[in-house]
Amino acid sequence: MSYRPSVQNVTKASSNEKEGLYEFIVTMADGSACRVFFHRNPEWRLTNVSRLQRTPCPVCRKDFICKCMDKFSGEIKQQLDDGQWIEKALAQ
Ligand SMILES: [Zn+2]
Repeated sequence: MSYRPSVQNVTKASSNEKEGLYEFIVTMADGSACRVFFHRNPEWRLTNVSRLQRTPCPVCRKDFICKCMDKFSGEIKQQLDDGQWIEKALAQ
């Protein structure tokens, strides 16, 4: 069965309001987590996804840097939009 990310929680890690740069930690239902970067101007867009290496990659099972999550940035962005996760994280 192929991997499909399932966003379970989002917290804001850091931001630079002036530059419109935001960093979030996105935790998935399977326990993996990603650092997700957004640029707010001129509209919210996901600029980078990188897996936190505290658990092996759910796709390739490596426990070091891999690019697997890049393929899911569209899916992750969609889930963040659908669940209004960014708004919630910013309101925390
Ligand atoms: Zn991988």
